[in-house]
Amino acid sequence: MEYARQGRSIPAFKTAAVAEGLGPERIVRLIAQGRVVIPGNVAREHITPMAVGECMSTKVNANVGTSQAHADVEEEVNKARIAMQYGADTVMDLSTGDDIDNVRRRLLKEIEAPIGTVPIYQAASAYSSVLDMNTDDMFNALRRHVEDGVDFVTVHAGVTTKAVEHLRAEGRILDIVSRGGSFMAAWMLHHGRENPYYAEFDYLLEIVKEYDVTLSLGDGMRPGCTADASDRCMFEEVITLGELVQRSRDVGVQAMVEGPGHMPLDQIEPAVRSIKNICDSAPLYLLGPLVTDLAPGYDHITAAIGGAVAGMAGADYLCMTTPAEHLALPSVDDIRDGAVVTKIAAHAIDLVKAGQRQRAQAQDNEMARVRRNLDWDGQFKQAIDPERAMAIHSRCRDVETCSMCGELCSIKLMRDVLGKK
Ligand code: SF4
Repeated sequence: MEYARQGRSIPAFKTAAVAEGLGPERIVRLIAQGRVVIPGNVAREHITPMAVGECMSTKVNANVGTSQAHADVEEEVNKARIAMQYGADTVMDLSTGDDIDNVRRRLLKEIEAPIGTVPIYQAASAYSSVLDMNTDDMFNALRRHVEDGVDFVTVHAGVTTKAVEHLRAEGRILDIVSRGGSFMAAWMLHHGRENPYYAEFDYLLEIVKEYDVTLSLGDGMRPGCTADASDRCMFEEVITLGELVQRSRDVGVQAMVEGPGHMPLDQIEPAVRSIKNICDSAPLYLLGPLVTDLAPGYDHITAAIGGAVAGMAGADYLCMTTPAEHLALPSVDDIRDGAVVTKIAAHAIDLVKAGQRQRAQAQDNEMARVRRNLDWDGQFKQAIDPERAMAIHSRCRDVETCSMCGELCSIKLMRDVLGKK
């Protein structure tokens, strides 16, 4: 960020600009303003720089990680690989199970993409009760993750005493569903103290700045059901996050903001625009929003619908949801399905996003051309999930067209009548 403010174009800016199909001047300007971030860590400079934010292609994050009920390091590394193969740009390790250090370090070694973590999970997991952790545990976990090389960290610094007071008054159905948010709020209520990540935010900034790590300002108060959306708890936290974005930028730390959650369709656009305004156009990283609470087993779809609408309003980065959301730790297949569906939403956003529209449209145009030519291999090549497309088409036997209309294929009929190649 400091190089960008000096107008210097370092190699990372050039690489990111090429990947986005944009000129380096624009990316430098947007990074200087904090509207674009390049998550990274000075200890991991071999990772190809990747930009998130305004005018950049919409990015997809995949969450992996062990739980206390199921902890298999190799399985989590495999999930991360599968997620990358099917469209994820980054991976977050949300481990709370066995040997949390080992999972994180393996992912940092094996995955050539930005890796994010939520250090409070490790601080809390060291005790039988999250209430037993102390302030040092919280900052030591953060320092350990940053020193290991993670590229971005989520901190729930916006869960302040004031936000928690709103929670009592608001009468939410689902109080707090963010794991980190609930840890912070429970700890604060039990100890009668302010959130240490908020109270000592300057110290937190010193830790991440030393390694040039990007802050992801967590939405601990995000609504966990459509009835709780857009309430005072949510916006109290957003206002605090806006303050923290400014404080981060003041010392040259890149910051992005996390957003809701569960939200009816008609609230998404106003919420996204408000968050962007309050947080001075910081890159917006969305967890959903899930547009209904009624579809367990299909929440990768409810989230992708909300993510696409949010992207049209300005969201920059989608955290994938899997079919296992609300039900279980995702399997490898769940991760694959979640990655594909979220990638579809991200591409749909890019088709209407300033700075990306032309490139995304060119991809769609190529698909339309090969489809017109009944070029099946060409279609598989262009598809977000070629294997699934191939598997379904393989049900057709020996026909130029497909078994949907067979000889009555409208594409073939018009191509033949119009004599188009
Ligand atoms: S047969 Fe029908 S569905 Fe299949 S390619 Fe032709 S128009 Fe499309």
